[in-house]
Amino acid sequence: MPIKISSGFDAGAIDIVSATSADAIDLNIRKDSHADITQWFYFRLQGARDEACTIRFLNAGATAYPDGWHGYNAVASYDRVEWFRVPTTFDGKVMTVTHTPEFDSVYYAYFEPYSWERHLELLDRAQLSEQVRLVDLGSTVQGRDMNLLVIGDERSTTAKKVWVIARQHPGETMAEWAVDGMLDALLDPADPIGRQLLKETVFYVVPNMNPDGSVLGNLRTNAAGANLNREWHTPTMERSPEVFLVKQKMLETGVDLCLDVHGDEGLPYVFVAGSEALPTFTAAQAAAQRQFSDDFKIASPDFQDVHGYPAAPYTDEVLTMGSPHITHAFGCLSLTLELPFKDNANDPDELTGWSGERSARLGAAMLQPVLQAIRRLS
Ligand code: ZN
Repeated sequence: MPIKISSGFDAGAIDIVSATSADAIDLNIRKDSHADITQWFYFRLQGARDEACTIRFLNAGATAYPDGWHGYNAVASYDRVEWFRVPTTFDGKVMTVTHTPEFDSVYYAYFEPYSWERHLELLDRAQLSEQVRLVDLGSTVQGRDMNLLVIGDERSTTAKKVWVIARQHPGETMAEWAVDGMLDALLDPADPIGRQLLKETVFYVVPNMNPDGSVLGNLRTNAAGANLNREWHTPTMERSPEVFLVKQKMLETGVDLCLDVHGDEGLPYVFVAGSEALPTFTAAQAAAQRQFSDDFKIASPDFQDVHGYPAAPYTDEVLTMGSPHITHAFGCLSLTLELPFKDNANDPDELTGWSGERSARLGAAMLQPVLQAIRRLS
């Protein structure tokens, strides 16, 4: 049987250069559907059972984040449930995966995918809780639903408003895995932190900010080619309805705390990025950020604050980004939470690297610093 590479499925993305034999599979990582961003890949290989495969990504050195390939191992799966890492090298230009599939069909991806079907199941499961109202905010560029989960008692006049949004960058699937884990804890009647939170807060959760980009297999952009995390200052219904609709709802509800969940291609750590670059940033806001990090470190050893983004000066771009824009607009604690594509270098897992499951546990642990932060506001 000849080998076959395909990507005609949810989030599938690859360009085939040459794939005539298992030991010489040459590919290019595909651009986002409507933008010049190249990083996400997800494809299926058939017909190479028990053959030593050499899969070369010829354009890896010319992708959006070439640093992302240093110290990186691709993920693979036979059933799209269990994902494991496969040996991967990068010489600065070409990335090479070597793997001998044990079955007739194997999938390879940049990171453990979070499918559109799973997204819909997450919404379905959540709405079965009597604490949840499932709200349709409108539609994406390609007509997919922009759904919001409202969790808690909206009629309460004292409840704090906690917003959690994920996957503005659709290929950062670990962000939705984190929300998945957070929701499981929050909606678990036996979870003591979830129980306390639902007495004192209303959660507004957008598990997937970029449905079109997710299905199209994009890393960073929507179906109009927009990087949604640069659209917050002036979103439009034509170019960035996903941000426009969510921002409109935030202005209606108010925001006391916001977390915007992402994945970082380069750094093998979990960390947060704050709003220090804002000229209006106050000492109290800085203290709230620090306290949140301190609390998060106690809640999860996977969270750390040694490694992160270096301080950057204020530019006009800052107000186009979700979390600083929200700090600016609402005066609240608003953080970008970054999870790794690679692994947590402080506690690596050779088999899986950083994973969906690890992201979900982190998402659940996030509730504890959220509860502490909310109580400090009262
Ligand atoms: Zn991101």
